[in-house]
Amino acid sequence: MKLLVTGAAGFIGANFVYYWLEKYPKDEIRIIDSLTYAGNIENLTPIKNKIKFFEADINDNKAVAEAIAGVDVVINFAAESHVDRAIFDPSSYWHTNVHGTLTLLEEAKRAGIGRFHHVSTDEVYGELQLGSKDKFTEKTAYSPRPDNLYALSKAEADKIVMDFYHNNDMFVTISNCSNNYGPFQFPEKFIPIIVANLIDGIKVPLHGDGRNERDWIHTKDHASAIDLILQKGKSGETYLVGSDNDRSNAYIAEKIVDLYGADQSEIRHVPDRHSNDRRYAIDATKIIEELGWKPIIGRDNFDEGLEETIKWYKDNQEWWRPLLKRRASITDNNKTLSAFISLDRETGKTKFAFGKVEKTKQKLEKNSGHHLKKHFVEQNLVRYEIVVKNLESKIWYKNTDNDIKKKVKALGLNPATFGYLEDLASREDKINGDKILRLAKVEHANPEFGVYGIASWFEVENHDKEKRMEGYYSWGWGPKSGAKILALIRRKGEITHFAFRREQKFPTGTIEYNLAGGFPKLNESVLDFIIRSMNKDLGLSVSKRDISISEIISLGRMSPDTGMTNNKPNIYAVIVDLDDEKYKDVQKGDKFEEDIGIVLWPISEMADIVNKCDDAYFLAALARFKLSGVVDIKLQ
Ligand code: NAD
Repeated sequence: MKLLVTGAAGFIGANFVYYWLEKYPKDEIRIIDSLTYAGNIENLTPIKNKIKFFEADINDNKAVAEAIAGVDVVINFAAESHVDRAIFDPSSYWHTNVHGTLTLLEEAKRAGIGRFHHVSTDEVYGELQLGSKDKFTEKTAYSPRPDNLYALSKAEADKIVMDFYHNNDMFVTISNCSNNYGPFQFPEKFIPIIVANLIDGIKVPLHGDGRNERDWIHTKDHASAIDLILQKGKSGETYLVGSDNDRSNAYIAEKIVDLYGADQSEIRHVPDRHSNDRRYAIDATKIIEELGWKPIIGRDNFDEGLEETIKWYKDNQEWWRPLLKRRASITDNNKTLSAFISLDRETGKTKFAFGKVEKTKQKLEKNSGHHLKKHFVEQNLVRYEIVVKNLESKIWYKNTDNDIKKKVKALGLNPATFGYLEDLASREDKINGDKILRLAKVEHANPEFGVYGIASWFEVENHDKEKRMEGYYSWGWGPKSGAKILALIRRKGEITHFAFRREQKFPTGTIEYNLAGGFPKLNESVLDFIIRSMNKDLGLSVSKRDISISEIISLGRMSPDTGMTNNKPNIYAVIVDLDDEKYKDVQKGDKFEEDIGIVLWPISEMADIVNKCDDAYFLAALARFKLSGVVDIKLQ
């Protein structure tokens, strides 16, 4: 058999190729990999005579056409999987994960390839509650966490793969797998970094409270599952792959420290990562029962799997040491600034160092826009029709004036505001138990918000037939879900103040303490957005060079405020080193109570604000920041 494997210079792809050649030594393997920051040609050195390697981007139609000619099967591992990178450069996710998959499918179709297998992730299903016994199955609805660009782009890619099954009659299969461990994993990832730090006597970083759970599977078990899907899987089917091995991050860290023979005091709690989902767990019944898959290492032999993995990293230090020094150069969305990313071993997070734009990097997205636009418009139209049908079945919508209906539908046809229509259609027909009679008014928030913020005014009626108006606000969602920022000012290495606004709050109209933030513009990275908000909302004079990613602390997401729907903003604490010059126009502390405006408040007096403030976002941000343990704050 002839196989084309994409992304096989990366972690799982390389392990898959080793597995395959051991089991089917006569097969011909071709590999396409563009050798990004995560790709490493050394992974394939021992088998270099047994493979044909094409160093190319999967978006390169010509290279893909050459590599794909005459193969029986395509297996797509290539992906941008580095979550921290999305903070700076969100477009790379769309480039590889979405558009790259589309290019591969188009070329596979053109070449008449018999089977296309797409390797996906359980993150497309979103996160599960900690403490629940729930597991993802093939029937679980896709619900990628809106601030996890990796998950969002993989979900979009899965949909495109299924489109080629439905509309082009292609033989496609998808596997959605849980977290992998094994050899060749880039040392910035959780398990290798624990081992590498233990070897070098650096404390093991454990993010957040350590209770987040992942369902760990050995790469050999993942490879055997894909092998079986290639043999017996049915076209158009998705198979969830996991070895019933959900464990908390704290368990993994403690276990590895234990197996390594080190002391538990080697573990150090550090603030949480950006977009750190709480829990994933997989129910793999379908692949077990329909295809007869059985993990060999699985849960029962997890200790052995871990031991073998620890040994591999101990024995292959010449493999991972150079990778730890690797600095990837990337550019931001506006192509105005480039950054080098590398690993901070103490915190287990990505470090960014900023520099000038490298001209050569700018060519990357030559012709990606066109296909994407075409594809998304077609998909939106199908979704649009379903949503409009749902809306039109509602009595209050039938009673709504035609000009408002027209306005609503126009908003739905615009991909940027389509979410508003979805939000309206999925609303309950009551507000606080009172019946909605009609949609009376639709108002846009200030267009400077870029994505959308739309207020819907409903006429409602209570049991006594009294009528009143109720306003609801819908926000844009997805990667553009709102974000709130707790800005902390550090001087001479010590956090001394936090910055906030005191202003009239929508929709209540009361004067409140308010965090900076709102909505990123289309194509604005989280980092750019944070900087814009700090400058605009807080009157500080902050540049990219003032913020390092390890000082953006993710404090999780918040459920909507009263009167708001749809979005769950992300809350970040951002620490900036600023001298007096950069906030000279901002009021400092104590006399702000009657005033409206920007305030810098001493961190030592945080308790004062807590006792006076009613704003849920503000209080949640303070409480969660306190829990992060970055500074010791007194709240009483
Ligand atoms: P990885 O980052 O280690 O490897 C990805 C590889 O793809 C790299 O070699 C990189 O150079 C290559 N690549 C990236 N962009 C490319 C492009 N445009 N063209 C060609 N090659 C490109 O990732 P991984 O952890 O091995 O993941 C492989 C696949 O498995 C991904 O699709 C991922 O979504 C999926 N997956 C991973 C996990 C996990 O735990 N790591 C779990 C479930 C699913």
